[in-house]
Amino acid sequence: MQPLTNRAKSVSRKPLSFLESIYLPAIFKGMLITFKHMFTKNPTVYYPEKKREFSPVFRGLQILNRDEEGRENCTACGLCAVACPAEAITMEAAERKIGEEHLYREEKYAATYEINMLRCIFCGLCEEACPKDAIYLSETFTPAEYNRKQFIYNKQELLIPNPITNKEAYEKALGNRPKKTTVNS
Ligand code: SF4
Ligand code: SF4
Repeated sequence: MQPLTNRAKSVSRKPLSFLESIYLPAIFKGMLITFKHMFTKNPTVYYPEKKREFSPVFRGLQILNRDEEGRENCTACGLCAVACPAEAITMEAAERKIGEEHLYREEKYAATYEINMLRCIFCGLCEEACPKDAIYLSETFTPAEYNRKQFIYNKQELLIPNPITNKEAYEKALGNRPKKTTVNS
């Protein structure tokens, strides 16, 4: 039969020598490798007491951003959903009513906003597509869950804490992320 690739190698069938047949040299070789590792630096990080440094380009759980006055930045324009290659984002837009100016920056806002974390590949395209600095990928992992439905994050779970009412939690969620200037429509 013709092979599909040229990667096949013929296996040597030569009989084992005496040393090979007692396996001791191979066992000592393996033990020597184990012994050498006793003198190398331990790469284990004792989580959660110690935490590994994140790469500057690490992309974790999405956060829906607010401005300095605590208003939601998202205008439900849908650009993030269009940019998302995994079709993980869905939302419903709503019109801001009179008296809601302190809640939403723009005249339109996301009444619902969901991300399916089982679909998300953390590519960051939603953040890049957003013209309002309304979504960014934080330095937080998506926690493990037992139920698939719990991986669908709704707006309340994604929203950053309000900087006016909960400044400490807001700063923590922001992490080392530089504050960007948002553009009003
Ligand atoms: S990080 Fe990528 S895959 Fe995940 S929601 Fe954003 S655009 Fe979609
Ligand atoms: S997060 Fe940004 S891109 Fe997505 S709907 Fe809101 S404003 Fe538009």
